Amino acid sequence: MSVGYDGVLGWIRRFASEVEANKEYLTQLDAAIGDADHGINMSRGMSAVVAKVDEQSGDQDVGALLKTVGMTLVSTVGGAGGPLYGTLFLRMGTAVTGKSELSPDDWAAALEAGVAGVQDRGKAEPGDKTMIDALIPARDALKQALGGGATFADALGQSAAAAEQGMQDTVPLVARKGRASYLGERSAGHQDPGATSSHLLLEAAAETWGDSPQGSGDHEGGTNG
Ligand code: ADP
Ligand code: MG
Repeated sequence: MSVGYDGVLGWIRRFASEVEANKEYLTQLDAAIGDADHGINMSRGMSAVVAKVDEQSGDQDVGALLKTVGMTLVSTVGGAGGPLYGTLFLRMGTAVTGKSELSPDDWAAALEAGVAGVQDRGKAEPGDKTMIDALIPARDALKQALGGGATFADALGQSAAAAEQGMQDTVPLVARKGRASYLGERSAGHQDPGATSSHLLLEAAAETWGDSPQGSGDHEGGTNG
């Protein structure tokens, strides 16, 4: 199956509502090792995104849609999170410019490009206790599952599960990037807020595209899980 413009929009909206539902939680996580604004930042950004994408229906270019999401995040969210999530979406959009739907391989290429963008911008490596610790396992699990012949739904599920594991694995880590790194050893014992929101992003993709495909194209695999 592939995911059409409306399917991508559905993912963006679902991520926005997950961010909203987890706003307090993300902010609490950031209170422990940062400055208590991650939920507020992401909520402000994704609210602006939802308002923006509502304005521009009609255009069926998924790449342009993702770039709009990225530019909106960059322009509405301060701190580290906004530019990093902005870059993630901008690079995803660039990777799929001109496409009206995403095949599983297109999604893998978009995620790969987005993650590379976050690393170019933030210079974080796995184990630095950042969003990268959720994104890289998600990227790798997706590629591995697709390479092994999994359905898109299964690959998305494995990708989200890897993000969740990566998120949980940030707990014992000592932060080496971002505000949390100022705490040194005291950052250990807390889950990273950015890895947590990144897990929500991948989980939203699995839930939106895995369970009930909204895209165009044939829906082989469908809802059988
Ligand atoms: P700020 O740290 O400016 O208050 P946020 O609270 O919105 O911004 O986002 C904090 C999150 O940003 C962290 O939990 C971490 O996951 C992520 N982050 C910070 N610096 C980097 C970096 N250099 N590379 C990747 N992610 C980073
Ligand atoms: Mg913060």
